[in-house]
Amino acid sequence: MSLETPAAEPVSPPAPAPVRDLDWDAGKARELGERVMEIWLELLERMPHLPVARPHTVEEVRAAVALPIPDEPMPLDDLVAHLRDVALEWSMYPGHPSFLAYILGSGTVPAAPAELLAAGLDQNLGGWRLSPAATEIELHLMRWFAESFGLPPGSGGIMTSGGAMAAFVALKTARDARSGWDSRDRGLVAGPQLVMYASTEAHVVNERAADMLGLGRRGLRQIPVDGELRMRTDALNEAIVADLAAGVRPVAVVATAGTTATGAIDPLAEIADICAEHDLWFHVDGAYGAIAALVPSLRPLFRGMERADSIAFDPHKWLYVPPSAGAIVLRESHRLVEAFDVNPSYVHEDRERTKRGANLMEYGPQFSRGFRSLKVWVSLLAHGWSAYERRIEHDVELARYLYRQASERPEFEPMGPEPRLSIACFRYLPPGLPEGPEREAYLDRLNERLMTEIQLDGRVFPSNAVLDGRFVLRICIVNFRTEAADLDLLLEVAAELGARLDAEMRAR
Ligand SMILES: *Cc1c(COP(=O)(O)O)cnc(C)c1O
Repeated sequence: MSLETPAAEPVSPPAPAPVRDLDWDAGKARELGERVMEIWLELLERMPHLPVARPHTVEEVRAAVALPIPDEPMPLDDLVAHLRDVALEWSMYPGHPSFLAYILGSGTVPAAPAELLAAGLDQNLGGWRLSPAATEIELHLMRWFAESFGLPPGSGGIMTSGGAMAAFVALKTARDARSGWDSRDRGLVAGPQLVMYASTEAHVVNERAADMLGLGRRGLRQIPVDGELRMRTDALNEAIVADLAAGVRPVAVVATAGTTATGAIDPLAEIADICAEHDLWFHVDGAYGAIAALVPSLRPLFRGMERADSIAFDPHKWLYVPPSAGAIVLRESHRLVEAFDVNPSYVHEDRERTKRGANLMEYGPQFSRGFRSLKVWVSLLAHGWSAYERRIEHDVELARYLYRQASERPEFEPMGPEPRLSIACFRYLPPGLPEGPEREAYLDRLNERLMTEIQLDGRVFPSNAVLDGRFVLRICIVNFRTEAADLDLLLEVAAELGARLDAEMRAR
């Protein structure tokens, strides 16, 4: 026995005990997963017989769905009942055959299980090492679209949240590629004023992108349109010449391939010539329409698009996947890296050693990125491209059918140019409406109220456009469930509610 007092044993705390609450095993996952799957399948079966939308108020919806967050697990039966309620009582259905509004894909069926798998895989496409297969699928898909649009090898791009972010990414890249100084480093104060151009029919997100890029909203010049609602290239030329003379530097032109109001396609080849002449970035906003260029019968409408520096398109529109899924492809995909690369000290990588691929955090404004491309990829694999071609053509045929019906029936009037893509506009014209100075203003008020009443009625769901100051009803078919009968129903409902409103309004 030693006489020395033993040194005190260092007391090391015990290893932390496991905390397993959040770690559901496969059996528990199956319980919830299968019951959610049942809700989805019930929705698929019942959707055509449900109203497209219900006239609920915000108070009603909030009271029904805004549950308090529990401290302890909600019993599975209650949770599933809540989800079923959300799906079948308190939602509206862009995938309903009679949903005809805005531009909102009906949601491919294979996208839903693809989203489940994407969430289950938990990939982060900011870094290749965190998403090897996912990053390669996204890049492969983007190269396929870019080359199918006619861009050369070396083209490609990334997925975005939608057309709005695609516009921002494209115009940011354009700004830095064409400013003429290191605008990324020194900002806009270091050079002359920069401007871009788009038609008066261009989508508002382009203006907002100009705002976010520091050009200001007026930094996106609004060019007037012709009778077919396409950008007037003579006016574009004049605007560029005037800006140059004033010491302002033009950097980009946004041509729209499928405007939101009527589906008009700007004269892309002529705009490409003007961009080439002045060394401007040629951006095509094809958020809605560009996909139609991949259909041989519609391709000629898009002549000149293959000369673009960048093309925005939205898989959540005419590729029918559920939101959100936008995309931007560029003639020279490396331009994205020039506009967005960063070099964080906390993301070290020896690529020569690892042979890893691209880190998409350097290709756009997002750092962490989800596996958005999987729903697009799975839908294309499951359906095959030919099915898309047939359906996109059919959507266009249906829009023309509605336009024709509106011109043949006396209580309707087709409005705007004849559909080139899948958008058609018309208005209700009550029989016996007297001619006179009040007529147009009355028709605007009547059709404005009519659109609201049709949406609240819920049997069909159109939206509106304002064409040359006139309020019109508008349909856009990016819906693989819509058929001619849905369009007949639209006219039936519009005639019924229109007659009632007209009687009411004229009595006053
Ligand atoms: C829909 C649309 C946008 C906006 O796209 P989001 O996906 O809604 O962000 C931009 N441009 C055009 C031409 C569009 O049709």
